[in-house]
Amino acid sequence: PIRTRIAPSPTGFLHLGTARTALFSWAYARHHGGQFVLRIEDTDVARSTQDSVEQILASMQWLGLAYDEGPIYQMQRLARYHEVAQQMIAAGTAYYCYCTPEELEAMREGQRARGEKTGYDGRWRPEPGKTLPPVPADVKPVVRFKNPLEGDVSWDDLVKGPITINNREIDDLIIMRPADAAAGEGALGVPTYNFAVVVDDWDMAISHVFRGDEHINNTPWQINIFNALGAPLPQFGHIPVILGDDGQKLSKRRGAVSVTAYEDNGYLPEAMLNYLARLGWSHGDDELFTIEQMVSWFDGGHISKSPAQWDPAKLEWVNAHYIKQASDERLAALVGAQLTKRGLPVPARLEAMCALYKDRCATTVVLADWLAMYVAPVSPSDEDRATHLTEAVKPAIRSLADKLAALDGEGWNKAAINGAIKETIGAFGLKMPQLAIPVRVLVCGRAQTPSVDAVLELFDKEILVNRLRSV
Ligand code: GLU
Repeated sequence: PIRTRIAPSPTGFLHLGTARTALFSWAYARHHGGQFVLRIEDTDVARSTQDSVEQILASMQWLGLAYDEGPIYQMQRLARYHEVAQQMIAAGTAYYCYCTPEELEAMREGQRARGEKTGYDGRWRPEPGKTLPPVPADVKPVVRFKNPLEGDVSWDDLVKGPITINNREIDDLIIMRPADAAAGEGALGVPTYNFAVVVDDWDMAISHVFRGDEHINNTPWQINIFNALGAPLPQFGHIPVILGDDGQKLSKRRGAVSVTAYEDNGYLPEAMLNYLARLGWSHGDDELFTIEQMVSWFDGGHISKSPAQWDPAKLEWVNAHYIKQASDERLAALVGAQLTKRGLPVPARLEAMCALYKDRCATTVVLADWLAMYVAPVSPSDEDRATHLTEAVKPAIRSLADKLAALDGEGWNKAAINGAIKETIGAFGLKMPQLAIPVRVLVCGRAQTPSVDAVLELFDKEILVNRLRSV
């Protein structure tokens, strides 16, 4: 069966790159009727936090990437890594190495001085007929993988195509480190990434590994460890990085990189999924599609071999599309929460307001910016005031305020408001925009809005009349 996984490290929020890998892995499993596993790679105890775990889970849920198994925590599987390492030592595919950090540094220095590639020189690697150094009493050993010395490691990458590395290029990797009891690592020792990932992908019967191509250099080691364990190999697909518009890897310094930030900035999860799907993957010329369509199309092909470019303007365009499509009820709930977060009351006719403004808003934050005018004072720019709120138009605005004040509860509707506006322009000899624009500037704080009667209708009468009278 097809089984994929996402394996974030809880050292920060869910990164956009990880979210995209999660989407690809999830969609691939769904496409094939398989399963998707979430694993939390928390062996970096010093940098992992519970807060990050919770943020990652919340982002996965927000995106709607449901997992069939998990979350599985590596730190709860230490006994298993210990067991497999012991089996490998017994089988002669791993060994203890007692080198101190100082010794390793001296080794690398010597290699550099001789112009050699740096790497572990195999001094504790057991070989037939070789005498190992005496075991020092005071050094806690690491466990190293006995990497084959000869031959090639090859795999047919789902994204990059065939890749071959000669074993002479890679050294004997540390697979287990002694536990740092002070850091709360328990007694058994902690696996390194390349070892834990193999034991886990094996135990969890992962058939397809999608991950960022920053891991491509790790894969030869992992394949060798799978082989040493007699474990079946998964297929690997290494997805190119996402670049910012400066051509550098997308990073925190260059703007928002966490899924949470986009949620907070008023993006909808279906827009994020649609946008992330198109980031380094394509289906013909399709730009806007549902997640169901993506699942039906996503067979692992058409993933780009070259880096994708993060394009905030396009993401906004995609989001605007989904905001237009979203129900007013859903938008009202999102915008209501935003207004509450700003310390503002939630206006009474929020759903009707969302209906009126959603076509011109790329995010729910922008929508909330618009709707705040119904419950909070507005401040027209000096320029708009000077241009539009002329002495000549002020009497007309006051007259409109009186007419609107006279409308009773039942009569407060778009037609009646429109009637009051028409009467006013007739009485003062104005054209529609000559009144409508100043009114907009005064009550909305901006000169351009949807049709003025529709905008005014949604105001609380008292707030509106007071604002008009303040002219
Ligand atoms: N914890 C690793 C990461 O977040 C997982 C890499 C992998 O999928 O093997 O980069």
